[in-house]
Amino acid sequence: MMTTHKAHCLIFPYPAQGHINPMLQFSKRLQSKGVKITIATTKSFLKTMQELSTPVSIEAISDGYDDGGYEQADSFAAYITRFKEVGSNTLSQLIETLTTRGCPVNCIVYDPFLPWAVEVGNKFGLVTAAFFTQSCAVDNIYYHVLKGVIKLPPIEVDKEIIVPGLVTIESSDVPTFVSNPESAKILEMLVDQFSNLENVDWVLINSFYELENEVIDWMSKLYPISTIGPTIPSVYLDKRLPNDKEYGLSVFKPMTNECLNWLNHQPISSVVYVSFGSYAKVEPEQMEELAWGLKKSDNNFLWVVRSTEESKLPNNFLEELASEKGLVVSWCPQLQVLEHKSIGCFLTHCGWNSTLEAISLGVPMVTMPQWSDQPINAKLVKNIWEIGVRAKQDEKGIVRREVIEECIKIVMEEEKGKKIRDNAKKWKELARNAVDEGGTSDKNIEEFVSKLVTIS
Ligand code: UDP
Repeated sequence: MMTTHKAHCLIFPYPAQGHINPMLQFSKRLQSKGVKITIATTKSFLKTMQELSTPVSIEAISDGYDDGGYEQADSFAAYITRFKEVGSNTLSQLIETLTTRGCPVNCIVYDPFLPWAVEVGNKFGLVTAAFFTQSCAVDNIYYHVLKGVIKLPPIEVDKEIIVPGLVTIESSDVPTFVSNPESAKILEMLVDQFSNLENVDWVLINSFYELENEVIDWMSKLYPISTIGPTIPSVYLDKRLPNDKEYGLSVFKPMTNECLNWLNHQPISSVVYVSFGSYAKVEPEQMEELAWGLKKSDNNFLWVVRSTEESKLPNNFLEELASEKGLVVSWCPQLQVLEHKSIGCFLTHCGWNSTLEAISLGVPMVTMPQWSDQPINAKLVKNIWEIGVRAKQDEKGIVRREVIEECIKIVMEEEKGKKIRDNAKKWKELARNAVDEGGTSDKNIEEFVSKLVTIS
C-alpha cells in the first residue's frame, strides 16, 4: 500500500556520531507526524556504521573522500573544502534522483557545519532549515567570536568575559577551539555556521526553551530560532509510546547484553557510569588518575573505554581492579544505561548529546570536560542548572584521583549532593514536558510541520 506523505525532508548531517544521532531522532519525530524523510550522508561514513537500523531511508553521497572520509584528507581544512566542492554536486544529484524516483524533496534540514547546503536548497527552491546540534549557549559564543565581541584567543586565565545573552563566563569556559590558536581552521568552520543563516527559513536547535530561555530569547532577535529538543527516542521520555530503542546509527558496536546483564545485578543508584563520548582522547596520565579515583571512591562503575584508548589503562587494571567493582566496555547503549535504576551518577566529558541525555533521564553528573564545547556545557551543568559538580584540573590540566573521588562522593552520597539530585529530577520533568504534546519543543515541531505542509 502506498503511503501518502505530507512533505519530504532531506536531512543532511555532518558525518559524525554526535551530529547524526540528534538529526536521526528529529527525523523519526517528523516521520511520526507524516513527513517523509531521507537522510543524506557520506559514502565513507556509511561504511563505518556498525549498527544500522533506522525506520528512515538513507542515501550515500560522495564527499570526495569515499575511502576514508575525513581520515583520508590531508587536513581538516582540506576535507571541508573538498566536501563543499564535491558535495554541492553530489547533493544536487541526489535531489534530482529523488525527483526522478517520484519523491521530490520540499525541504532540506542541514547541519550548519556544511553551510553551502543552503545554496543547494535555494537552487531547487526548497524550504531551508539549519539544525544546530550544540547548545544555544555555544552557538551564541561562536556568533560573538564572529562579531569580534570575544577576542581571540582569550589568553588571560580566570578573566571574566561578558557575552550578550549569556551569564558571565570565564576564559576557561569558552570552547577550546576559541582559545587554542592551533584550532584556527576548525574555528573558521564554526563561525562559518552563521554564513547563509539570514537566508534560511528555520534555525532549529537541539535544546529546549526552559533550559536556555535567556540565550534563546537573545538569539531569536537575530534568527528564526526554534528549539526542538531534547531529541532522544520517545520511548525514553514516555513509556506509553512504541518502543523505538532498537533504532540506531552507531560507529561503534554497543556491548548491550554485557552492560545490561551486569547492571541488572547492581543495587539501585550504586553505579558510576563513565564515558567521554566518541572522540575525546584522554591523556594516559588522566586515565590513570581516573582509574584510581574510581577505585578510591569505592563505588561500582561502568566505564566506556573505546578500543583505541584501552592501552592507556594502568597495568593490570582490567584483571585486578576493574573485575572487583567495575565493568569496562568499548561502547555501550548509553540511553539504556542512563535510564537503568542502578545508575547513581554520570562521570561525563559533557558532550552536548550526553549532557542532554543525562538531563532527560534525570542523572546527576560529575563533569570532566576535555575540549570543544564541553567546558561551557560543564559550566551550565554546575552553575546554572545545578545538576552536577565539576572535577577541577590541576595546573598541568589533569584531574587528580582525590578530586575525582571527592566529586563522586558528593553526587552519590553526601547531603551536599541532595540538592543536585533533586534538581536532576526537576530538569528531567521539564525536558519531558518540552517534548510532550503541547510542550515548547513539541509545539515548535508541530509548527514546522504545518508550515511545511502549507508550502509544499
Ligand atoms: N554513546 C553511546 N555509547 C557510548 C558512549 C556514547 O551510545 O558508550 C552516544 C551517546 O549516547 C551520545 C553520543 O554517543 O548520543 C556522544 O555524543 P556527545 O555529544 O555526548 O559526545 P561526542 O561523541 O560528540 O564527543
